[in-house]
Amino acid sequence: MSRKDTILRAAKRTAKEARAAASSRRGKNRAKIGVEPHRHCVVCWTPVPLEEEPAICSSEECARIHKKRERSRKRLVVLMYMIPAITVIFLIQGVMGAAG
Ligand SMILES: [Zn+2]
Repeated sequence: MSRKDTILRAAKRTAKEARAAASSRRGKNRAKIGVEPHRHCVVCWTPVPLEEEPAICSSEECARIHKKRERSRKRLVVLMYMIPAITVIFLIQGVMGAAG
């Protein structure tokens, strides 16, 4: 068996595995497994009901961590909007300064 054959076989196997994983992600096999649709706590991954919003379990620690994460996420989103906005303002100012 040559090195090329080995690589080719490995590639084929990986592609097959990827396809299988993709089809199971689409939920085709869900009925077969017999697991009710559910979410997981975003902190500790404990299964929680589908309608739970936000998706955290009843643990106080998880609620606290989730709140902290949510705060920093919101701050990041604000920054992501602010930085381009400030850049555009400076650019406009620069163009106006050059023209006027
Ligand atoms: Zn939790």
